[in-house]
Amino acid sequence: MKIVVLLKEVPDTYGDRTLSLETGLAERSTSENVLDEIGERALEVALAYADANEGTEVTALSMAPEGATTSVRKALAMGAASAVHIADEALAGADLGLTAEALAAELRAAGFDLVITGNQSTDGSAGMLPVMLSEMLEVPALTNLSAVTIAADSVSGTRASDDATMQASVTLPAVISITEALPDARFPNFKGIMAAKKKPLEVKSAGDLGINVDDMTASRGIMIQIAERPARAAGVKITDEGDAAQQLAAFLAENRLV
Ligand SMILES: Cc1cc2nc3c(=O)[nH]c(=O)nc-3n(C[C@H](O)[C@H](O)[C@H](O)COP(=O)(O)OP(=O)(O)OC[C@H]3O[C@@H](n4cnc5c(N)ncnc54)[C@H](O)[C@@H]3O)c2cc1C
Repeated sequence: MKIVVLLKEVPDTYGDRTLSLETGLAERSTSENVLDEIGERALEVALAYADANEGTEVTALSMAPEGATTSVRKALAMGAASAVHIADEALAGADLGLTAEALAAELRAAGFDLVITGNQSTDGSAGMLPVMLSEMLEVPALTNLSAVTIAADSVSGTRASDDATMQASVTLPAVISITEALPDARFPNFKGIMAAKKKPLEVKSAGDLGINVDDMTASRGIMIQIAERPARAAGVKITDEGDAAQQLAAFLAENRLV
């Protein structure tokens, strides 16, 4: 069984995160960049299966700026057998379509039985990449799984909606995405960190994957404008002198809130 886990490097949610007002991209230089936690959970799903099923090969795949190699190596330290890092500054500003094309090209070339992704990244937050990949790779998708069972020729799981819980299953090869309901990822231990140094980590460019980025604007979604949200205006303070309820009701009516 070959499982490929998709991992994205994102600005740490514990720190301040800002967008460049010039490019619309995340300001990577002002934040600490880490593996997205949901991607680490996806890796844990794959590693737990590999622990119990000899012969399982787990590969980490990421498309990210060059500096992200350290994050990709963390996936090797956690237990992935190999990693591929698509790193090409020509891909900066790639929209979902181009990102999916690049990742699908690598998946097609390397082959896979199962692709595991997070349901939504903490920075871009589109939540669309898994289904775009399934469409491009012409394999079924099972998304937003809060529990996953992998078998030799199928994958099944639980999808929770507001009113119901569904059990669903697809045959392999397939793409699945998981939610935060899945267990936390393991920490890399010393042995894993040392072993990671010797594991294969391939760095590929868009050209290596046959992706043409010459004219990014021709058929791509591009950011055309970005503006900082205006600072919040000071609110209205109501001092209760026996008529606070009337004042509140008047305020709500005046602002068409009731
Ligand atoms: C040089 C360079 C600069 C980039 N700069 C930015 C940036 O500033 N901001 C930004 O949001 N993105 C950036 N990207 C990455 C890329 O453009 C986004 O990953 C893409 O648009 C996906 O959007 P999303 O996170 O909303 O996807 P979602 O659909 O929310 O992602 C769902 C899941 O798909 C997988 N996934 C998503 N993106 C990737 C990825 N790149 N590699 C591996 N798995 C992935 C993860 O498992 C994730 O949990 C950059 C890429 C490169 C090469």
